[in-house]
Amino acid sequence: MNEGLTREIRKIALQNAFEHDGKTQDKIILAKILGTKPEYRTKVKEIIGDISQIVSSVNQLSFDEQKKEIEENFSEILVPKEKIQEREGLPPLPNAEQGNVVTRFPPEPNGYPHIGHAKAAIINAEYAKMYGGKCILRIDDTNPEAERMEYHAAIKVGLDWLGIEFDSIKSTSDDMELFYEKAMELINSGKAYVCTCKRDDISKNRRERKNCKCSMSDIKQNNQGWKKMFEKYKPGEAIIRFRGDMKADNAVMRDPVLFRIIHEKHYTLGERYRVWPSYDFAVAIEDSNDGITHAFRSKEFELRKELIDTILDALNMRKPYQGFFSRLEFKGMPISKRILKPLIEEGKVSWYDDPRLPTLEALRRRGIKPQAIKKFVLSLGLTKANTLAPFDALEAFNRKFVDADSIRLFMVSKPKKLLVKGLPFLVVEIPNHPIKDMGKRKIEIDDRILISGEDAESVGENSQIRLLGLGNVMITKVGEQLEGEFVKDGNVLDIPKIQWVPEKNSHEIKILIPKQLFIEEEFNEDSLEELEVYTEPYYLKLKEGEEIQFVRFGYCRKDSQNQAIFTHK
Ligand SMILES: [Zn+2]
Repeated sequence: MNEGLTREIRKIALQNAFEHDGKTQDKIILAKILGTKPEYRTKVKEIIGDISQIVSSVNQLSFDEQKKEIEENFSEILVPKEKIQEREGLPPLPNAEQGNVVTRFPPEPNGYPHIGHAKAAIINAEYAKMYGGKCILRIDDTNPEAERMEYHAAIKVGLDWLGIEFDSIKSTSDDMELFYEKAMELINSGKAYVCTCKRDDISKNRRERKNCKCSMSDIKQNNQGWKKMFEKYKPGEAIIRFRGDMKADNAVMRDPVLFRIIHEKHYTLGERYRVWPSYDFAVAIEDSNDGITHAFRSKEFELRKELIDTILDALNMRKPYQGFFSRLEFKGMPISKRILKPLIEEGKVSWYDDPRLPTLEALRRRGIKPQAIKKFVLSLGLTKANTLAPFDALEAFNRKFVDADSIRLFMVSKPKKLLVKGLPFLVVEIPNHPIKDMGKRKIEIDDRILISGEDAESVGENSQIRLLGLGNVMITKVGEQLEGEFVKDGNVLDIPKIQWVPEKNSHEIKILIPKQLFIEEEFNEDSLEELEVYTEPYYLKLKEGEEIQFVRFGYCRKDSQNQAIFTHK
């Protein structure tokens, strides 16, 4: 094998080990090599032996030794990462004056807030901050059929968690009288009319680009019709339509709905109103009236820009700048209510805080930090390309935040008992973090130690292992129960370093491991793995919500005394 390739393998192995607590694996390195050097895809057999050898030699180095080798031979690994961290911030806004920018985040309270809401809220708040302006939270609540207090409250909780501060908070429904006033203005200038056609006929006319007979009514008839919407007409019997252009190529412009009758009770206003504005009308009036200078929406609303501008022109109202960004969604983690609701109803997913979901509650419960979401969203910027982000992209940002503050704890799965003779002490003190001063914890021990089944299988008789934080043990017997003898001043190099818990006060917990929820449009039946493990008694002293790094396993968030959720590697 050529020297260049050997060097490349060693570099990748060191980098991977360095990023994962000093350990790497053959298959990870192989995948990385094949990813960057496709010419080896047909030569896996030729390189796998060398990869194995290099991986094993890298794994035998201590973390400090790995770091030293990287600094001496592969310092480039350490450099570009800093650059990625620095690249953030949004592109400048068109027509923006310092101190005079007003943005808004207008969520509809018709579902639990998710990563897509986070993106919109963060971008709007960030722009206001960039220009020393204001950001308004406007609860867009003018469709009583779909909206609930439960969702309204969840949105507030989610935004608080994200740490977004708004300069003012309002509801679209605060301005119902204003909408009626503007409707009258449009009716009286002949720019809106009452349509009593059946739903199917309206769709058919739209497709065929034909006006209906209602559009011929005069202003007096329309005034009467508008009045009747408040008293006589039933839902679906009459709507107010904007006089757009039935011949327009942009279908949105073909005499869209401005008002409709809804009988459902509004979650705060009850039955006070029965005629409700459409989304387009409400957003046009509100953005203009609230003094919004820059109104952002996700890309699927782009065709509605023309309509909003036309409505505001018809009313001689100020038009804000309208900007668009792509929806944010993770691969295999849909945000659509149409998809998520049935999963919950069918019990495939427990609730909206299930760690497999992209809702803010779920991300929080999984151990994703709000600062990481913010950095991640800003790193995406304002791109309009509708790509699905891989979840690891967010994980990479999150890792930096959790790594600094996560206490390191031991945890073993499928445990095997190891009887250790000759232990010279009954208590060990172990630092809670390898670098940062997060204090130490005491672990009481006796001669009965538990180690992971996997580790137990890999040790041989008459070989030494190192129990992390405790010392070396010479294994004298393997099998269902292992036996060994404590070795004083044992050699640290070239022996397996193993985590352990004392049997007498080990604490059993369940770790939930969320996996991708959908694979190729299909619900993944194996998307939630449950792992029964034993950890140290110190786990019980941690607060709910604290982030832990289980050594050689990954980051987890304490969900309760008996359950933790896997955050990521
Ligand atoms: Zn009609």
